[in-house]
Amino acid sequence: MDLAFQAFFRHAGAGEEPGYPRFKTFNRFSGWGYKTHGDGWTLMPGEKGRHGKLRLSGVGNIRMRGGMRDEGTPKTCEILHRHGRWYVSVTINCKPVRQRGYGAIGFDWGIQHVLTVEHDDGECEEIGNPRWLRNNEAKLKDLYRSREIKIKGSRDWRFVNRQIAKLHGKIARQRKDWHHKLSARLVGRTGAIFTEKLKIKNMSKRPKPKPGEKPDEWLPNGASAKSGLNKSILDGAPAQFLSLVRYKAANAGITMGEAPTQKLKPSQRCRQCGKVEPKRLEQRWHLCACGSRTSRDRNSAGVCLDWGMEHFLVLWLAYLNTLGSGTVPEDFGSQNLHLESLAI
Ligand SMILES: [Zn+2]
Repeated sequence: MDLAFQAFFRHAGAGEEPGYPRFKTFNRFSGWGYKTHGDGWTLMPGEKGRHGKLRLSGVGNIRMRGGMRDEGTPKTCEILHRHGRWYVSVTINCKPVRQRGYGAIGFDWGIQHVLTVEHDDGECEEIGNPRWLRNNEAKLKDLYRSREIKIKGSRDWRFVNRQIAKLHGKIARQRKDWHHKLSARLVGRTGAIFTEKLKIKNMSKRPKPKPGEKPDEWLPNGASAKSGLNKSILDGAPAQFLSLVRYKAANAGITMGEAPTQKLKPSQRCRQCGKVEPKRLEQRWHLCACGSRTSRDRNSAGVCLDWGMEHFLVLWLAYLNTLGSGTVPEDFGSQNLHLESLAI
């Protein structure tokens, strides 16, 4: 409280418009952090860096669960309070070792399948939502339904609310774990990964209302179809998955390319003949006049793969040309291309 009021008077003194400190319940307390190891906290990992204890000054020794993937020296520490549980997040100074593979893939984040992966050897993987997620979503629905018949603010209502928050936390943790495993597997199997740039904002934007001929008349604009779709897109948290793939690819030293969605239009372009034809959101199949007939997601993943192969091959050849002159094209650096990864 003292800190909050100090900040309030400091802002007021500087002639700014300060927000008066508000009361915050314990549930909104998010935690705190430490900048250097040994200053207020000591990490005592167990065998092989797993479990062990954490000593916090003023708190004491606390047992930990979990471990580090790569061993190293602890740098910073954050104590997190999420969904009524306590976590510690420690950054470790280490040399990560990550397995990588060869060949190239393109992937698309979809609705029918969470992930459609097209390999350069023609293999296609379609990865759906895992069973635990579907089960938990059903449980969540039940909880929401049982809350509806409780009196708002009552003891029962508060109890169900706590259950809902707990389950949300569990789903988020399980999903993150799953994303970690999935991204590690993709990176472990390939030498180059291509996808399209993600534009969550555009995807979740509501379409403009379409006026009809008479005043007060509105034509269907696809808003309800889009909101259902967006829900499933956002629920899958593609941004989280993509950021995990990005850093794992960088760790393993493999190529990661994100195609410009607006320019390439992977979901509208035919992989076989290159023709661009808009699709409606509910259109799940790609049927082209050239005879190409495949699922929308697979076509899109393939377009990204082809774009990557072509785009990065051009950059690579440009780089080879400049080897004699001693300069590297600027575009090359910005793409974060690793030479050894393109097994041409
Ligand atoms: Zn075609």
